[in-house]
Amino acid sequence: MSEPTHQARGGPPRIVIIGAGPTGLGAGYRLKELGHDNFLILERHGYVGGLAHSFTDPAGFTWDIGGHVMFSHYSYYDRCFERLMGDEFTLNNRESWVRMFDRWVPYPFQNNVRYLPPEACYECLSGLIKAQAGKGTVPSPAAARNFGEFIDAVFGEGIARHFMRPYNFKVWAYPPERMNKEWIGERVAVIDTDRALRNVVLGKDDFGWGPNNQFKFPLKGGTGEFYRRFGPVLGLTKDGREQPGSHIRLNAAVASIDADAKVVTLADGHTEPYDHLLSTIPLDVLFAKVLRTRDASFPATARAASGLLHSAGYMVGLGLKSRVPGGGTPDTKSWMYFPEDNCPFYRVTYLSNYSPFMTPDKDHYYSLLCEVSESSAKPTPGANGQNPDAVIEDCVRGLENAGLLAPGERANIVSRWCYYADYSYPTPSVERDEILTRVIPWLEARGIASRGRFGMWKYEVANTDHSLMQGVEWVNRLLRGEPETTIGMTYTVTEDGRNAAVHERPAHAGSGEKRLKSPGPGAGVHVARDSHVNGGTKCDATRAHPAPVGDIPAGEVGEDEVGITGRS
Ligand SMILES: Cc1cc2nc3c(=O)[nH]c(=O)nc-3n(C[C@H](O)[C@H](O)[C@H](O)COP(=O)(O)OP(=O)(O)OC[C@H]3O[C@@H](n4cnc5c(N)ncnc54)[C@H](O)[C@@H]3O)c2cc1C
Repeated sequence: MSEPTHQARGGPPRIVIIGAGPTGLGAGYRLKELGHDNFLILERHGYVGGLAHSFTDPAGFTWDIGGHVMFSHYSYYDRCFERLMGDEFTLNNRESWVRMFDRWVPYPFQNNVRYLPPEACYECLSGLIKAQAGKGTVPSPAAARNFGEFIDAVFGEGIARHFMRPYNFKVWAYPPERMNKEWIGERVAVIDTDRALRNVVLGKDDFGWGPNNQFKFPLKGGTGEFYRRFGPVLGLTKDGREQPGSHIRLNAAVASIDADAKVVTLADGHTEPYDHLLSTIPLDVLFAKVLRTRDASFPATARAASGLLHSAGYMVGLGLKSRVPGGGTPDTKSWMYFPEDNCPFYRVTYLSNYSPFMTPDKDHYYSLLCEVSESSAKPTPGANGQNPDAVIEDCVRGLENAGLLAPGERANIVSRWCYYADYSYPTPSVERDEILTRVIPWLEARGIASRGRFGMWKYEVANTDHSLMQGVEWVNRLLRGEPETTIGMTYTVTEDGRNAAVHERPAHAGSGEKRLKSPGPGAGVHVARDSHVNGGTKCDATRAHPAPVGDIPAGEVGEDEVGITGRS
């Protein structure tokens, strides 16, 4: 294969990045920091942030694309946040609950089954004890062939039936048998049965929140404000517009990539040559619609990529004119899980609890953000984004059924907002890692790195911190020869680019994990005690960070999306 080069004679290579989500922004930020100026980020939308963007609706409510909670596993990410946000953030307790049997069960679920009706409580405990003794329907987590069997092996029949199976189907929109078990990781396989039992017998509360389990949230502008602030660092104006010399081109949808000539063509016909390409386009879309090459192995590789599964999601925001939720006492919940079928959503976030600036006036309004998944295995009345109104109405009814909206409170809804994400969750399907083993090295061999939530397709490293760091680490590898540690994949590219990758679960995988220990002095982690505004922050990405990129060891609290946790 010919090796065209677009770098000016003796000059730095030309780097093109597709997508200004956290991955692309992280890569751009790091390039700038390392003094590499020959790069361009192409973004199809007129704004940056991707799925981490936030919108403010005409009524003055600010919405994220689903509840975004920032749990960083990286000192580098923390330093970016500190530099761009200064003190302009709130610090919130992670207070999550499960709604079932018309009552609230605190997170983590298995430590609080005493809140269930006695019969269900007994079924959960007895199943858990049997499963952990290896006497359940699946003898051990090691013997489980998929996520469904893993649930049975770890939690037993009761928890599986009442919570884990229905809840996970609502989140993922696929039966757990179609998902692998590796994305969860070994550490949630052992549950502290004695603790679960003790809490029931002694009537003990065992909540998963407190001073050690808090998260930061931008004071104004929602999650997206953090990512918006990368714009000026990369040449956009303060209000997010392009100007001469910008490293970001907005409204620049990439229509095709000629992998042989190393040229990207935009929808408007404009072309951009590259030496190295970082793509954050969903992998299946990249192969099905964007990539062009005369390479004979392309059709078979594209067929493999088409086997990746994903779900779509409706993010339904409801703004209410009411001082406190439900007309009762102030509710301090952060977010809630809904395993039952009396409502369409799997999760609802009290977004107005994250910051006093998420509504037009904190004293008179509050806001709820509902998330509803969709796939071919779980259709919704929204019909692939064609009929969002039907999903909004279902959510309002669901909130009434679940007791979050009191009778008559529907009249207080002053804003109905909906965002349809056609790519919401990358499914860790049974076949996923095998497909990635084939597809990612194939791209690498042709000068294309695919990274990020849907570029790498690894849900376990697809949060904002992981995504941003995938961009940073790719640049570190390219310019400094450092290994990438987040993608959980090591590969040597063979002649034909196949069978050359090995997967492992990276240490910083997972979401919602509390830290085991602080990264130590000099790592630059900022611990805030209170929330306040310092009025304007200056950011300079070219300033060297004080310490090398460092990782924060993962804690023992598990994946918040599945509502479970390991030994804690
Ligand atoms: C419902 C939901 C809840 C979430 N909750 C959390 C959470 O609690 N905590 C957390 O940390 N993270 C959360 N995330 C994940 C977070 O949003 C992602 O980690 C992050 O946005 C991924 O960044 P990315 O850059 O890889 O991809 P994206 O954000 O998807 O960005 C990709 C960018 O590429 C652009 N693009 C695509 N195709 C083209 C093209 N052809 N031409 C040009 N540009 C293109 C897109 O417009 C987009 O801007 C959540 C995500 C969802 C959907």
